[in-house]
Amino acid sequence: MANALWVCIEGLPDERYLARKWEKIPKHEELAFKAIPPDLTSMILSTPLFSNAADGRREEVNLDYAQAWGLNDEDNLELVFAQAKCAATSNRFCLRMIFNAEQATSDVRSKRYRVYNNLMNDAVFHAAHLASIEGLYVPRHYGMWIMDTGKWAGKVLFSLNQWCGVSWRELSFTKFNTEANKVLIGRSFEALHDLGIDHGGLRNREDLRHALIDVDAPGLSQADLLNGRARCYIVDFSDAHANHLCTRKLPILPHHTFLWNTPVGCAEISGALFLFGFVQCPNAETSASEALEWHTEYSKSHPNMKNSDILMAQRENDDEKTVSTSNSDDGVPTAGTDSSRRSGAA
Ligand SMILES: [Zn+2]
Repeated sequence: MANALWVCIEGLPDERYLARKWEKIPKHEELAFKAIPPDLTSMILSTPLFSNAADGRREEVNLDYAQAWGLNDEDNLELVFAQAKCAATSNRFCLRMIFNAEQATSDVRSKRYRVYNNLMNDAVFHAAHLASIEGLYVPRHYGMWIMDTGKWAGKVLFSLNQWCGVSWRELSFTKFNTEANKVLIGRSFEALHDLGIDHGGLRNREDLRHALIDVDAPGLSQADLLNGRARCYIVDFSDAHANHLCTRKLPILPHHTFLWNTPVGCAEISGALFLFGFVQCPNAETSASEALEWHTEYSKSHPNMKNSDILMAQRENDDEKTVSTSNSDDGVPTAGTDSSRRSGAA
């Protein structure tokens, strides 16, 4: 039953709904998604459900809220999310849902339709550009699904994804707000850029909800979670574009200096450096301008080298410098441990 599965919802104990994969998506009939695991024939959707507040933080919503979602065009403009568990294995999945889908998508000029359109853009981008890195830097996408819940919330359209954890927008208010975890997220964005993917949605702090760390994954100690050894995933590619040729000149690492108007070479990487506070500590010894100068000089002396290789050499150079000074600095974790963190995460 690879294209159908039963969905039970906590709080609606007398109901279960048969969800079917949306095989022929209008205008996108050719899209191919990951097949669901063979043991996934029934899933249990956890409550409370949740949504993103205006500040990008997660807020719980109840089933009454979900039931009314999509019935008018002024409210409830954020998708509703839920964690679901496979009834057989307890493997975790993420559902992003559009309730009352027929009504919610009936007017292509409505705000509600834009929400649907973004969900579809994300699905299309996954199928077209992300299949090879799903499960590594981005969630596995199992396609779009539809279930008829009748009088409860009509037809419910949802994307079915791998569960990827908690957003940085939430974690930044917790003990997990460590430099190592910021570096972990930065490396994920860098990896996407090296693969030609510009996420396109990293402009302000609210956008950090698109970076998730799987803090509940089994087998991780508290030290692992604090030291950037959990897995990190980037989500929501509704504004992304492919074929990005990244010309960044700096890695996403703490540089401890102001960089006002200094060209980093890539808008999104520059945004990440600022959002993580990696270029906002004046009066420190280490200088981002030094790193930029190093990049410029190295590029000149290696004119045939790819930018991604230059960046790798730059990172090694930075690591050596950081290791050599790590015993005398102010306790900032050293970039020299970064490669081991990342290998632990992957
Ligand atoms: Zn870039």
